Amino acid sequence: MSIEDYNDRLLSRDEYFEYLKELETLPPEYCAFCDNKGNVTLKDFTFWNLIVCKAPYWRYHLMLTPKRHFKQFTDMEVKEAEEFLFALQYTTDTLIAAGLKNSDGTEIDRYLYFWRFRQNSFDPVNNVQKPDHFHFHIVPEKEHLWAPILDENACDFDVEQLKSLFGDGEEM
Ligand SMILES: [Zn+2]
Repeated sequence: MSIEDYNDRLLSRDEYFEYLKELETLPPEYCAFCDNKGNVTLKDFTFWNLIVCKAPYWRYHLMLTPKRHFKQFTDMEVKEAEEFLFALQYTTDTLIAAGLKNSDGTEIDRYLYFWRFRQNSFDPVNNVQKPDHFHFHIVPEKEHLWAPILDENACDFDVEQLKSLFGDGEEM
């Protein structure tokens, strides 16, 4: 397999980890989000690409990726942030208006947005480096989707410690 074999199509999660291994054989400066040509691009904005997630968790798993390589949400420049808000609204409006369906036939009437802050982009389970180019996830959401992973001891932590960490609500 070469990197081209993974282009312009979606991958199962297993294939995705093979693909990440393949990426590691390329020069370290290569970035599959900067070089967007292997992705399925839905919209080409000025500073952003709207792409289909290469290895979707669920149907209609999309991502907004900046054309400039940056890592953190807070690395976004003002002009990028401005277009990001527009692109996110445009994408969500377009998805909602389309009345798309989940695999079980129910209508998708809500979406979830997420981005992961990672201190370390190495995945020890699959022994691969995750891409550090900022990518913002847009996925269909369902009521109680997170129920299986909720922590039954979620209230059991020191809120006072947390308050003091943030200066007890003092104005910034
Ligand atoms: Zn990049």
